[in-house]
Amino acid sequence: MRVVKPAPRGEVPTLREKTCSTCGAGFTLTPDQKFFLCPECYAQEYRRNAKARSSGTQVLTHITCVACGTSEYLSFVPQDASQALCKACFGRQRREQKPDRRH
Ligand SMILES: [Zn+2]
Ligand SMILES: [Zn+2]
Repeated sequence: MRVVKPAPRGEVPTLREKTCSTCGAGFTLTPDQKFFLCPECYAQEYRRNAKARSSGTQVLTHITCVACGTSEYLSFVPQDASQALCKACFGRQRREQKPDRRH
């Protein structure tokens, strides 16, 4: 009886064709890679992110809490800065909005 050996798997990874979501260029990925950008755009994106990280200039929004009057810097831009709450009040408001149904 002759045993036909299956073709060896995993030696040659099947490359998948992908299209870069930024520049539209085609590039190939091995099955375990999950990139949406071609190597060129990926490197560009990486450099941009690295620069943003290293510069340390996080955008801070100065707000005056409408509830307690505390001046605070938020690390994000609130929807309405004139109606913004400090972190403490924001947390409290969130707790109050969530009805506690313990019976
Ligand atoms: Zn690209
Ligand atoms: Zn407050």
